[in-house]
Amino acid sequence: MTPEALDCGVGWNGRYRCGSPGCDRCRKRQIRRECRAVLKGFDAPDCRFVPVTIRLGATANAQGAITQFRSDLRNRFNLCRQLSRWWFSAAIWGWIAVEEGAGRFEITAHAIVRIGPLLGQADVREAMTRTWDKPDQIEVGSVVGRIDLPALARIMVGQALTASSQWHLSLQDFRSLRFRYGGATVSMRRVAQVCREPMPTLF
Ligand SMILES: [Zn+2]
Repeated sequence: MTPEALDCGVGWNGRYRCGSPGCDRCRKRQIRRECRAVLKGFDAPDCRFVPVTIRLGATANAQGAITQFRSDLRNRFNLCRQLSRWWFSAAIWGWIAVEEGAGRFEITAHAIVRIGPLLGQADVREAMTRTWDKPDQIEVGSVVGRIDLPALARIMVGQALTASSQWHLSLQDFRSLRFRYGGATVSMRRVAQVCREPMPTLF
C-alpha cells in the first residue's frame, strides 16, 4: 500500500483532497467516481460489454509506454473501423495500472470494450492480438449484458487503480491513468444499416 499523501484533506479544513493517484484516500473516491461515469457515459441500449486486459510488460519509462499504448490503441480502433463497419459502434474505456519493482514499471491496461449486437468475444480478441501479439499479452473475458456492467466496472476500475506505486505520486490526477476511445453514444440506425450488409471479410 502506498501512504496517503501527508497533506491530503488537511489544508482548508479538510475541504480539498490532493487528488493524486498515489493517495489511498483519493483512490477510493476515484474508483467510485469512475464506476459512476461508466454507468452514465458508457452504458448504451442494445450493447454488450467485454473485459480486456492488455499486459504491456516492464519498462524503465512508464510515461513513454503509456503514450505509446494510447497511440497504438487509437490506431487499432481506426484500423478495425476501416476494415469493418461492425466496429463503428464499438468503444473502449480503460484504466492503466503501473506497478513498481526493481526500478522498473510493470504496465497493464484494464479495459471494457462496448460492442454492438454484431461483434463477439472472438472478434475483440482477434483484433487486439493483431496489435499486442506476444503470448498471453491479451486476455479477453466473457461478454456480459448491461445488467452486469456495474459489477464489471467495479472489477476493472478496481484492478487498475488499486495497483500501488510510488510513481503514482508524481501524477497530478487520475486522468493520466484513464483512456477512452470511441463514441459515447451508439447510433442504432447505423447498426441497423450494417445488419443488412453481407458478412464482411475481416482483416
Ligand atoms: Zn489524497
